[in-house]
Amino acid sequence: MDPQILISGGGPIGNYLASQLKGYSTVVMEEHSEIGKPIQCTGLVHPRVTEIVKAQESILNTIKGLRLFFPDGRMIEVKTNEAKAVVIDRCMFDNICCEAAKEADATISTSSKVLDFKRDGNELSVKCLIDGDKKEVRTKLLIGADGYKSQVGSYAGLGCAKEIVRGIQADLEYQMPEQDMVEVYLGKDIAPGFFAWILPCGEFTRAGVGVSKGNGIPSKYLERLIEKKGLEDAKRSQIYSGAIPIGYPKSTSTDNVMIVGDAAAQTKPISGGGLFTGLRCATYAAETAIEALEANDYSASILSRYEDKWRSEIGKELDRGMIVRKVFVGMSDKKLNEAGKLLDKPQAKEILATGDIDYPCELAKPILKAVPSLVKLAPGALRTLLIGR
Ligand SMILES: Cc1cc2nc3c(=O)[nH]c(=O)nc-3n(C[C@H](O)[C@H](O)[C@H](O)COP(=O)(O)OP(=O)(O)OC[C@H]3O[C@@H](n4cnc5c(N)ncnc54)[C@H](O)[C@@H]3O)c2cc1C
Repeated sequence: MDPQILISGGGPIGNYLASQLKGYSTVVMEEHSEIGKPIQCTGLVHPRVTEIVKAQESILNTIKGLRLFFPDGRMIEVKTNEAKAVVIDRCMFDNICCEAAKEADATISTSSKVLDFKRDGNELSVKCLIDGDKKEVRTKLLIGADGYKSQVGSYAGLGCAKEIVRGIQADLEYQMPEQDMVEVYLGKDIAPGFFAWILPCGEFTRAGVGVSKGNGIPSKYLERLIEKKGLEDAKRSQIYSGAIPIGYPKSTSTDNVMIVGDAAAQTKPISGGGLFTGLRCATYAAETAIEALEANDYSASILSRYEDKWRSEIGKELDRGMIVRKVFVGMSDKKLNEAGKLLDKPQAKEILATGDIDYPCELAKPILKAVPSLVKLAPGALRTLLIGR
């Protein structure tokens, strides 16, 4: 062991990051005994995500449109002829990321947990639990890709996500008649502080909900969703739950340490999707790691280049996403229904049809320009989006 780079967390982001570090000794430690399990994801991504990691074979289904249900039952349908998103087999996707890391000569150490670390001169001494035995590993760079509870981020004093949304979903043995439309449900009774979804995945259907803190157990809302769809009798082949960190911390790097992916809450605040953003940030973490190794400098100053790079690509989108999320969470069902009524117009639907799930905030300005009365629902915040800050 004693690699130049130690990555804590063998999820998709940690392994993809390792795949970008060929030529540098890299170890990925994953606490579980298998890569890709347990699954904690719906697997809805833009096709570009599968292209980035060459994981097209993990695609289960293609989505071309959306049906958005408001609390009063109003449904806004947005249909297109393009592949707006694909559903992936997350376990296969994670394993493809892991194979790419191995091809780049990274060592993947499963059943290995990063516990703690201390700085020792120019490097770190990292305490780990490998196959149940306590070990000490020395490394120049420790990268936390260890998910929403990131121990690396917390030991490094980098702070945590501003908010955690709890998610739960069930795979139902039911084939939806229309395979290219995803359904999204809004409202306090169905998914307070987030949304619920019904996603066709070929032979099965994925039903899920996200719920923000203080609203009780998510499973109650999942049952309500399944009942609403009349799918109580459908056999459940899998049930999985997880947490979505929202709102990145103040800093994502310090001396000898960077955090990436869910560990840095680099998720899209509107949808909670973290694969695209995490992969982009991993590219910048890899670039910065290589710069640091070449300069033999692991100071906070050189590693802050990582933060500058990822923020300049997706920081604005995530910040605007936080504004939209704040407005959304503050809206009563009555206000959501008003928004639904205002959006239920051909011009607004045409604009929604141009949307890209990785850049949802790009829609804000054109929608607010087309439907200016929307601004009245949250004047301060929405005006900020309208004038483009
Ligand atoms: C219900 C739900 C639905 C979602 N749906 C979507 C979606 O449709 N599209 C999308 O883009 N995103 C979605 N996401 C988000 C997506 O799953 C995450 O953004 C993505 O998994 C982040 O990858 P990661 O590698 O950063 O973290 P993770 O996937 O969480 O991987 C981190 C890994 O680190 C390991 N680990 C943790 N601590 C340690 C330690 N100390 N030592 C060693 N290993 C450790 C963990 O066991 C885990 O395997 C969803 C999330 C949830 C919860």
